[in-house]
Amino acid sequence: MDIKTVGIVGAGQMGNGIAHVFALAGFDVLLNDITQPALDKAVALIDRNLERQASRGKISEADHDAALARIKTTLKLSDLGQTDLVIEAATERETVKQAIFEDLLPHLKPTTILTSNTSSISITRLASRTDRPEKFMGFHFMNPVPVMQLVELIRGIATDEPTYRALLAVVEKLGKTAASAEDFPAFIVNRILMPMINEAVYTLYEGVGSVRSIDESLKLGANHPMGPLELADFIGLDTCLAIMNVLHDGLADTKYRPCPLLTKYVEAGWLGRKTQRGFYDYRGEVPVPTR
Ligand code: NAD
Repeated sequence: MDIKTVGIVGAGQMGNGIAHVFALAGFDVLLNDITQPALDKAVALIDRNLERQASRGKISEADHDAALARIKTTLKLSDLGQTDLVIEAATERETVKQAIFEDLLPHLKPTTILTSNTSSISITRLASRTDRPEKFMGFHFMNPVPVMQLVELIRGIATDEPTYRALLAVVEKLGKTAASAEDFPAFIVNRILMPMINEAVYTLYEGVGSVRSIDESLKLGANHPMGPLELADFIGLDTCLAIMNVLHDGLADTKYRPCPLLTKYVEAGWLGRKTQRGFYDYRGEVPVPTR
């Protein structure tokens, strides 16, 4: 199947990055969110990020302008019905995602491939509630999308081979690398990454180390480019907690128990960089640990 137009639901951290890379690769993009400010913010951010790539000589000014011109925005989910591929990148909550698919389905052309950028939720279950489980897949991009090379492709139990092949071709066109994962909670990357982040929060909670000493230890002692708490803030603490809950519920093993301190931060609305406060406070010139 020839994919030319792409609809993206959710213009947050991931949605705007996904729109960016698809537009740069020549796809026409239609970006949807629930408020106009969210859409305006996303387009302004894409513009800035494209500009940064141009100033570093990674793309030309003409590429920048052409990519931006390929991105259209809409508040009406039904407008996405005529696209060839839909990528759902809304909040990591199953009820939110399910409601989006229910609203979208009556407007979708029969050939459209439906995907979710979920970090952890069962692809088979999401697919089973649509009219096209064979054309449904997990399409998991990494943050920040324009920088990270990997895309996880997750087949649900009913996903057919042409759909898988179509998405492999899309990943190739984006210049990225695909890794196939089976449909079990949190797939590959987050199955390994998120328990490490959760353990870092337990290490803080139990007073073994401070925010700074935990992050320095993993950066200098394990050669990680970012400390785990810094990374959690970058991902979003609500997303981290949601993924731990999916692992805990889906695998029924206490080793995945979300740290109560992670829950506390989310209850406070301190979700990391996106709300300017998490394990660090980002409101000043330099990030300052909040504990
Ligand atoms: P985010 O909070 O930055 O953005 C979510 C966006 O979805 C918001 O703009 C919100 O307004 C919008 N939204 C909510 N309900 C909607 C609806 N009904 N219709 C349209 N838009 C709606 O979150 P994010 O970090 O971009 O995460 C989005 C998805 O990507 C999640 O499933 C998450 O698990 C996944 N993901 C996140 C990361 C990461 O590092 N943050 C990495 C890979 C995948």
